[in-house]
Amino acid sequence: MARVADPKSVDVNLTAGTGVEIEWKDGHRSRYSFQFLRDACPCALCDDERNQSGREPGEPPRTPAGALPMYREPARPVETEPVGKYAIRFTWNDGHQHGIYSWQLLRDLCSCVQCKAERESAGSGESPAPMISTRPVAPPTATKEKG
Ligand SMILES: [Zn+2]
Ligand SMILES: [Zn+2]
Repeated sequence: MARVADPKSVDVNLTAGTGVEIEWKDGHRSRYSFQFLRDACPCALCDDERNQSGREPGEPPRTPAGALPMYREPARPVETEPVGKYAIRFTWNDGHQHGIYSWQLLRDLCSCVQCKAERESAGSGESPAPMISTRPVAPPTATKEKG
């Protein structure tokens, strides 16, 4: 992937609680809600949990059929800190703090229409079947008989 994973600016809207906004050096903008980022936590523990339940990063846990949905306090970071020049780390309100979100990961997680389309077209790799027209050959015009 040749996508730029170098942020020009990163806004963590802690007070508003709206989420994280990143403007990349190539001009692309990404937005993530805190809940999405929490569910996409890349640490080994969360990764394991996701694999076991077959979830994609950012996908909320599924409620078993028939069970009442469990109330979850909306995820919110209580602290953020930069990790070197390549990542950011959140300490969540549930006490979890093991996930290090690299810029590359965040760029790959961007779920805007454009990035989704790019990922889908890169995933399938199949070109649509060519259109073949099967128009029946017109029968030769019958010679009119004069009567
Ligand atoms: Zn985690
Ligand atoms: Zn995007």
